[in-house]
Amino acid sequence: MQVFQRTREAFLSGRTRPLEFRLQQLHALQKMITEKETEISTALKQDINRSQYDTPLLELIGIENEIKLAIEKLSDWAAPRPVEKNLLTISDEVYVQPEPLGVVLIIGAWNYPWSLTLQPLVGAIAAGNAAVVKPSELSECSSLLLRALLPRYVDKDLYPVVAGGVQETQELLRLRFDHVFYTGSSRVGKLVMEAAAHHLTPVTLELGGKSPCYIDKNSDVRIACRRVTWGKFVNCGQTCIAPDYILCEPCIQGQVVECIRQTLLEFYGADPKCSPDYGRIINQRHFNRILSLMEGYTPVVGGQSDSSQCYIAPTVLKDVPPHSRLMQEEIFGPVLPIVTVSDMDDAISFINEREKPLALYVFCSDKKAIKRMIEETTSGGVTVNDVMMHYTLSSLPFGGVGQSGVGCYHGKHTFDRLSHHRACLVRSLNMESVNLARYPPQDRRMSLH
Ligand code: NAD
Repeated sequence: MQVFQRTREAFLSGRTRPLEFRLQQLHALQKMITEKETEISTALKQDINRSQYDTPLLELIGIENEIKLAIEKLSDWAAPRPVEKNLLTISDEVYVQPEPLGVVLIIGAWNYPWSLTLQPLVGAIAAGNAAVVKPSELSECSSLLLRALLPRYVDKDLYPVVAGGVQETQELLRLRFDHVFYTGSSRVGKLVMEAAAHHLTPVTLELGGKSPCYIDKNSDVRIACRRVTWGKFVNCGQTCIAPDYILCEPCIQGQVVECIRQTLLEFYGADPKCSPDYGRIINQRHFNRILSLMEGYTPVVGGQSDSSQCYIAPTVLKDVPPHSRLMQEEIFGPVLPIVTVSDMDDAISFINEREKPLALYVFCSDKKAIKRMIEETTSGGVTVNDVMMHYTLSSLPFGGVGQSGVGCYHGKHTFDRLSHHRACLVRSLNMESVNLARYPPQDRRMSLH
């Protein structure tokens, strides 16, 4: 692929090495976001009918924060880090030097097409890499806009955008990149890892899964449901860290349903289809997939759909059997099942019997119980008494564990992930006598003891 050759040559020119160059590229990226905010929001309106207010909040602020942080901290992050010495190296220079990996391939997903491509790119630029950006073909308007805009702001040979679908992604994956940063489904994540293994290329896989949300009977159920309703139905449920399902005791299930119903009415009105704040499913395939997951259930809230608009109303299902198909695969849509558990112990077992999730949410007012819940389960990240907010902190590593992902990013974590941490030992040619103990012949070494 020609574009790959050009990117490799641009990297080998060495121009990404000076920090001033990286800073200038980061400023240019910032400028693009500031100047093109309206176009970006409009593209997402066309792709998934996302509210114009949501795009800055859900994507652009996050990217801008990452850029600002990288600009502010770059000289610290990129500086050599002196490390401990031993007796033999006491007068040497010993340090770890972060250096660029080379050419990174960034494959993004369609649900947040700007942050899922540009946040890794911020780290790639900061770490001095070149990067080929492959946005998802499913969010077509956003992908086309990214391809048109990026080369107008940043170095077009170092950071090209490749459009296209599965075939183009497969072609890219055959090439020898220095790192592949993939966001998407676990199914394709495996294919990415397999392709990368041919070249021993390291990967970061930001995948999905079913993120549980436990609501304790002693928490403020009204506030808990308000927060869960936002996290579940924003972007029409197409968020990798959306709460996938609710776990609660049977005694509060009715209250949970009522609180969600009330909140939905407040957020989206009596008919969410007419609300400018409620989105659409990305395409017909996903629309049919989500509807088929709902088959056989009588929704207690919502359930309406309109295939001509890829519209599925915010839907709640109660008393969902733990082993139903709905509880096997990630929903990735506006359908919220409630599964009842007998107590917190039961909730912990429920979570631990399944794949390690990308996120875990716990609503609870008892500090000891919260601690227990965190200590006795695992997940990529956890937010207590809210949903998704751990994602917004650049200081926290964002990523999955087990089936929900490999590696993490955000802030310095992205810089570190996309750098080689080179071990450096710089000695002088003096004090050769100290080395005699390690040189043959044996007789001389024995005499030194
Ligand atoms: P996907 O894996 O189907 O597609 C993502 C990209 O992979 C696309 O650009 C596509 O061209 C490419 N692709 C698809 N099939 C391929 C194949 N056979 N060979 C090579 N490339 C191929 O992902 P999706 O369904 O679009 O995204 C939804 C999933 O992504 C959900 O599971 C969600 O949880 C996850 N996700 C995770 C995060 C995260 O940050 N962890 C963020 C967003 C989405």
